[in-house]
Amino acid sequence: MGDFPQINQCDPRAGVLRDRPEIEAAISAVLESGEYILGRSVRAFESAFARFIGVPYAVGVANGTDAIHLALRALGIVPGDEVITVSHTAVATVAAIEMAGATPVLVDIDPDTYTIDPARVEGAISPRTRAIVPVHLYGQPADLRALQAMAHRYGIAIVEDCAQAHGALYRGRRVGAYGAAGCFSFYPTKNLGGIGDGGMVVTGRAEVYERLLQLRQYGWKERFVSVSKGMNSRLDELQAAILLVRLAKLDEDTERRITIAEAYDRLLQSASVITPTVAQETRPVYHLYVIRHPQRDALRRWLQDHRIGTGVHYPVPIHLQQAYRSTRRGPLPVTERTADEVLSLPLYPDLSMSLVEHVAQQIKAFDSLQDQRSTRPARSSLPTRNAYPARKH
Ligand SMILES: *Cc1c(COP(=O)(O)O)cnc(C)c1O
Repeated sequence: MGDFPQINQCDPRAGVLRDRPEIEAAISAVLESGEYILGRSVRAFESAFARFIGVPYAVGVANGTDAIHLALRALGIVPGDEVITVSHTAVATVAAIEMAGATPVLVDIDPDTYTIDPARVEGAISPRTRAIVPVHLYGQPADLRALQAMAHRYGIAIVEDCAQAHGALYRGRRVGAYGAAGCFSFYPTKNLGGIGDGGMVVTGRAEVYERLLQLRQYGWKERFVSVSKGMNSRLDELQAAILLVRLAKLDEDTERRITIAEAYDRLLQSASVITPTVAQETRPVYHLYVIRHPQRDALRRWLQDHRIGTGVHYPVPIHLQQAYRSTRRGPLPVTERTADEVLSLPLYPDLSMSLVEHVAQQIKAFDSLQDQRSTRPARSSLPTRNAYPARKH
């Protein structure tokens, strides 16, 4: 037992060090180019990323929060407009909607996929609703087909939050290519991460692309000519050069994530945890491997004591955060229950299979301990996947 190292929930450093020679060469090329803002690296990365997603246009911005904020503004969303999203997400999703001046309206999630529940969206649509922001949380695509039908019926836009889902497939196409805009983050721990902040908006619409180019740089149509009110939210030239190197490895990294996730699925079959549900016609990219357990906090402590790091994404839903208590919302029972039970296991492309097996072993050891102690119901009567029947999408 003693010969296992400390295992972290994620390890952005491992990936960066693996690609170090190419990253250093890319940094050197920027240093020597003399182009330090919106130069050749940003242009090259934008066109490579647009090609990767399968859309005509991509605009590099400062971070993923700005990507959502600017996409909403580029689509003409203004103060007073309502934007529907989830409470079970990163605060950034909701912050971005408010930065655009819009009013977020939070709805509940699907209990199996943890993504926005289209049935709840319908009930939240009002005459002021202008957009829906589905979050492809943990790398699992949301139910885009149901959302698209609704968006079409009510004349509202879909802006995809793809910050955790670079390369995820929904009915054979990459997420980000479905909505009026797709928004990505390159925060270091994301599936495609820089060594600092970065973000991207992709779109198929020329007019949205033109608006985004202006918004990210003082409303400029050309240098020193502001035709609209913009801001400074540019993707850094150095980050773009680094991200271009890392984009070339993304498909391989994603395969590793999927292999690890499938190993967890298999190894945890007999454990008293609920493993992730994959919605039909999707290929998730496992930004996180998230299980559920009714004694989540005790399991987390047990794993910590065995030098296994885990995460909770997210422990407090947005509507229960001090700053967001007054956010408009429907009933959120699934969100609240989920926040109490989810646990993100170690997962990153360089995690070895023997460590994956070790993590699964320790989870089963926790199970046996619970069985032994107690007066409490035996493991077989604890909730399993069957307690939350899988819904077909
Ligand atoms: C990371 C993340 C963001 C924000 O990205 P930043 O680059 O940190 O601004 C938005 N939404 C989700 C779901 C995220 O995970």
